Amino acid sequence: MLYCPVCKSRDIFPVAGGYIGQVYLCKNCKYRGSFVLETDDGDEPGENKEL
Ligand SMILES: [Zn+2]
Repeated sequence: MLYCPVCKSRDIFPVAGGYIGQVYLCKNCKYRGSFVLETDDGDEPGENKEL
C-alpha cells in the first residue's frame, strides 16, 4: 500500500512519469513526485517477505 508523504492519504495513484520514471499524484493534497511512503500492512497475494 502506497500513501502520500505529505498528507498521509492513501488516495494516491501512479501517473505517467516520462523520462524521470514513475511519478505519483496525491488527489488529496495535489502532491506529485516519485517519492511516496509505503506500508507493508496487509497481505499481498503472491508475495512473501521473510526479511
Ligand atoms: Zn497528499
